[in-house]
Amino acid sequence: MTAPFDTAKQSAAIAKMLDNIGMDKTSIEADFLKYLCHTLGRQLDSEDYYLFKALSYSTRDRLMTHWKRTWAAYNQHKLKKAYYLSMEFLIGRSLTNNLLNLGIEDATHQALYDLGLDLEQLEETERDAGLGNGGLGRLAACFMDSCATLRLPVMGYGLRYEYGMFRQQIQNGYQVEEPDHWLGFGPYPWEIQRNEYTQLIKFGGTSRHYVDPVSGRLIVHWEHAEVVLAVPYDVPIPGFKNATVNTLRLWSAMAKEGFNLSEFNAGSYHEAVADKSQAENITKVLYPNDTSENGKVLRLKQQYFLVSASLQDVVQQWNDRYGSFSDFAEYNAFQLNDTHPSLAVAELMRLLIDKERLDWDQAWAITTQTMAYTNHTLLPEALERWPRKLLQELLPRPLEIILEINRRFLAQVAMRWPADTQRQQRMSILDDNDNICMAYLAIVGSHSVNGVAALHSQLLQDGLFNDFYQLWPEKFNNKTNGVTQRRWLAGCNPAMRTLLKDHIGEGWITQLTDLQQIESLAETAEFREQWYQVKRANKQRLAKLILQETGVSFPLDSMFDVQVKRIHEYKRQLLNALHVIHLYSRIKRGDTDNWTNRAVLFGGKAAPGYAMAKQIIKLINNIAQMVNNDPQVGDKLKVVFFPNYRVSAMEVICPGTDLSEQISTAGKEASGTGNMKFMMNGALTIGTLDGANVEILDAVGERNFFLFGLKTPEVEELRHHYNPQYFIDQSHDLQAVLGLLEAGHFNQFEPGIFDNIIRAIKSPDDPWMILADFQSYVEAQSKAAMAYRDRDNWLRQSIINTARSGIFSTDRTMAQYNQDIWKLQPIEMDGITIQC
Ligand SMILES: *Cc1c(COP(=O)(O)O)cnc(C)c1O
Repeated sequence: MTAPFDTAKQSAAIAKMLDNIGMDKTSIEADFLKYLCHTLGRQLDSEDYYLFKALSYSTRDRLMTHWKRTWAAYNQHKLKKAYYLSMEFLIGRSLTNNLLNLGIEDATHQALYDLGLDLEQLEETERDAGLGNGGLGRLAACFMDSCATLRLPVMGYGLRYEYGMFRQQIQNGYQVEEPDHWLGFGPYPWEIQRNEYTQLIKFGGTSRHYVDPVSGRLIVHWEHAEVVLAVPYDVPIPGFKNATVNTLRLWSAMAKEGFNLSEFNAGSYHEAVADKSQAENITKVLYPNDTSENGKVLRLKQQYFLVSASLQDVVQQWNDRYGSFSDFAEYNAFQLNDTHPSLAVAELMRLLIDKERLDWDQAWAITTQTMAYTNHTLLPEALERWPRKLLQELLPRPLEIILEINRRFLAQVAMRWPADTQRQQRMSILDDNDNICMAYLAIVGSHSVNGVAALHSQLLQDGLFNDFYQLWPEKFNNKTNGVTQRRWLAGCNPAMRTLLKDHIGEGWITQLTDLQQIESLAETAEFREQWYQVKRANKQRLAKLILQETGVSFPLDSMFDVQVKRIHEYKRQLLNALHVIHLYSRIKRGDTDNWTNRAVLFGGKAAPGYAMAKQIIKLINNIAQMVNNDPQVGDKLKVVFFPNYRVSAMEVICPGTDLSEQISTAGKEASGTGNMKFMMNGALTIGTLDGANVEILDAVGERNFFLFGLKTPEVEELRHHYNPQYFIDQSHDLQAVLGLLEAGHFNQFEPGIFDNIIRAIKSPDDPWMILADFQSYVEAQSKAAMAYRDRDNWLRQSIINTARSGIFSTDRTMAQYNQDIWKLQPIEMDGITIQC
């Protein structure tokens, strides 16, 4: 006989024990030492890495109770949940953010200080989780933070790539890619493997249709498929001081069997093991292409793997809990981060029809009521299309479903526009070249389609998706991007956080529009002086990092002029480079009256297969080499290319920036989020009327923004008769710049290496129209330089930029997704108890 077990009493006791984990300095210190000495077998003089790890574990313990309670709150009541499906989550580091959101930075700092350790130094030890390329992946990470802070029941689903975004080295001015084996230094301290939620994913085989002899229903079996395991790893996403911890679930591929035993017995050991690595290749590496299609079979496998694992997970848990799917659509929402997970439309149909035995119309109603699609780009090279033949081979059953969706959809189009066969052809999910158009699949299968800034959403309606807009205007909406101020202000700019706290408190950490309150302070000299000191300290921190990484000194008095983002022709790093040459040329010819010293920072990765982007990196490095080593230039101009731009680098870069470069060809940048991070940290923007720049300009006004360049309709109009030579003839400045470039001034020992670039910008077919905007850009730059010389006024403008950045919080973005698309209730944590 076992002793009687009083469940209620025991659970209460266990819950109390769990809830009682100390958030004070003494308990943090004790736990840190326990992990360091007992779990890891190290001591206080061990390498920082072990100290970081011990601190991460003790911090994770402090998330665990909230995490379990949040999970319990999800499941104790039937409540609607949303699932954010994304191929990328560009998380970066987590320690600083987790301490901040738990509200234990001070206690932790003190605990370590008492042990003779420096918290900041340990924070620097953490490697970035680089599971994304750029803006799209970072947006997903900011969204997760805001949802947890708003207590929205939202779960992220992604892939646990073994190799994240490559590490960029610069050798002789060229980008060299190094694999980022971020998991290679022991386990990632923030994740928890959850084998119990493992899913089976099918590839290949055939689909067999037959009539069930009992029910008389048509049944489909997906047979002879290869099966791969999807094993989830959960990462905690804490809200800001609200006892809520949401979940990011990342799937990792595993072979179903250790190895194929029958092949092993037949004596083919190698083949048996090779099979295993084939399966595990699926989540081996992130594709390093930002805004361009990957087109590889393995990429398609990754996409289906994510979608199938995540949807099976959701459907299975629903089934376990409720059984009936009649009200599934009222309690579940799926947000597709770009078209990468758009196979979800077909996969949900497959699960509902083949597994749950719903009929087509029921399944379709559920699918279209639960799916929502976010578009991230208008660039044609990014639009994913997969050959029908490839899907036939890899995903025979989902393909059948896609073709049936298309058949029914085209009938609907024919009904609405009888005899307009051209329109039917244009709108068909299966295009003229026998490819499946993933964007169209996503639109047809969703009830909501959104762009990511006002201009971008308008251009989707008027251009790319106009046919679909005419059919379903009610589906289309805008959700302007944002960034989380927890990471991008409170976390990365402690000096400004302290200053803000002294004047307006800390309400802005969850209510960013509170920053409005500092605007009136811009008129007091004392506050401006404090603002100046904060910016200067941040410039010092940045200059130190730049010196460390590049060996170049940035003089603190110069204007820090920064363009960091993926290297892409549409983002026009080349235009910025031409301006740098222009400044250099002015110095060389002695045209330096009223000069403003400038230090120009470039950073960003080029996709390994993107030759032009890589040449742009080389050009910038060669210009930097020439400029920085010319004694006649001195402090007037410095130029560096910062290697391996990533989240943790941006956390130092944006607080130390004076001028933010957002200079894409109008109509090409969907939103941009780098622009928002800079603005929030008090940088002024020089930019075109593109993406969210439009809304930034709206917020701060033309006096506090350096606007230049053609507007979207002007770009489109000029395209028909673009003549770069006309702009060259008009501008002596441009002639001087091109003269230096064409004379090989920056590549004296490497003849011809920039011919390609010169040809591209002088071509009437240059889609980015760099030369058309050159003169206007130079004038705006000159205004910025003049403005910078008036320190007092610059400080006012800087303060106004921060003060008006409130609308660019992802808290606002998420509230809008929730209000218009998901319609979730915030989680109530009161009275939620957990069991051990
Ligand atoms: C914010 C961010 C981006 C996006 O920058 P854009 O200027 O909007 O393209 C890309 N990479 C990293 C590391 C970022 O932090």
